[in-house]
Amino acid sequence: MDNDLLDVVIAGGGPGGLNAALVLGRSLKKVILIDEAKPRNDVTLKSHGFLTRDGISPTVIREIAREQLKAYKNVTIIKDVIDDVERNNDLFIIKTRNGQTVISKKIIFATGMKDHLPVIPGLQSVYGKTVFHCPYCDGWERKNEPLALFSNGAALLPFVKLIFNWSKDLVVFTNGPALIEEEEKRQLAHHQINLIEAPISELQSNNGNLEKVILQNGEFFNRTGGFISSTGERQSSMIPARLGVPINDKNEYITSEHGQTNLKGLFIIGDAKNTFTSLIGAASQGYEAAVKINGDFAAENWEDGLK
Ligand SMILES: Cc1cc2nc3c(=O)[nH]c(=O)nc-3n(C[C@H](O)[C@H](O)[C@H](O)COP(=O)(O)OP(=O)(O)OC[C@H]3O[C@@H](n4cnc5c(N)ncnc54)[C@H](O)[C@@H]3O)c2cc1C
Repeated sequence: MDNDLLDVVIAGGGPGGLNAALVLGRSLKKVILIDEAKPRNDVTLKSHGFLTRDGISPTVIREIAREQLKAYKNVTIIKDVIDDVERNNDLFIIKTRNGQTVISKKIIFATGMKDHLPVIPGLQSVYGKTVFHCPYCDGWERKNEPLALFSNGAALLPFVKLIFNWSKDLVVFTNGPALIEEEEKRQLAHHQINLIEAPISELQSNNGNLEKVILQNGEFFNRTGGFISSTGERQSSMIPARLGVPINDKNEYITSEHGQTNLKGLFIIGDAKNTFTSLIGAASQGYEAAVKINGDFAAENWEDGLK
């Protein structure tokens, strides 16, 4: 890294950060993208729902993006972690874990979320392989299969209604007393959906393929896949919060249009502001934020030229 003043630093190299880098690169901006390269979707082999990219590994999407960015010499990609950001007179001073400091006029956080799955023995082995969170990403592959749903509380019934679109063969596991209304239990029973409140002992699987949900009382249910309503996601980076960007009760950063936050020049896009944006959604937000930032630069440079 050199010590020149940068136009934009991008924190995070998922689809959000990479697409922002692409559009800012094409807008002749001097950009550094700093990426720890530990995205939450690393657990999955194939991703879906992104036109022209259906069924491709999310790692391959990132590799293609990095390869195409090589054409833009004004964009540098670095593998490192942003540990601290200070604001000084509308500039951002960015410090990395490897001891680098860079200064930038604007900054985009595309740092995503990290998942903290509930402690169910065997869940880690199947999550992203045959048990998922997002039915739009992985529902089609599991259509009409015997599925396990892991959920409880207010999220349970809306989640069941959604997954019911892909399979009617559902068993819901609350892993302890079901915290739902009697009417909700009645509706599950009406649709012949088994509600299991007994604590889970373990998920038995073979090479990521779920086979059985085994209860502590020894009972078991043969299931070939499943969905979990909450992955316990938390922000990957609390730096924007430390700088004063508010967070809502879903643990998402609050922004206005195009990812602009309450701090001038600081943008947040992708899962960090929408929990489960999707690949194309995060890429789209990267595009939008880049267009907004370049438009702001164009207006500022024009005004400076009139002085
Ligand atoms: C199991 C699973 C399966 C999924 N399947 C699909 C699917 O099929 N289709 C679909 O459209 N979506 C899918 N998604 C959702 C999709 O992956 C996300 O919505 C999308 O990747 C969000 O993009 P992002 O750029 O916001 O963040 P991410 O892709 O999470 O990228 C964030 C990047 O920022 C880095 N980072 C974090 N903190 C720092 C820091 N301080 N300094 C530097 N770098 C940092 C991370 O290491 C990471 O590389 C899936 C998600 C999961 C968990």
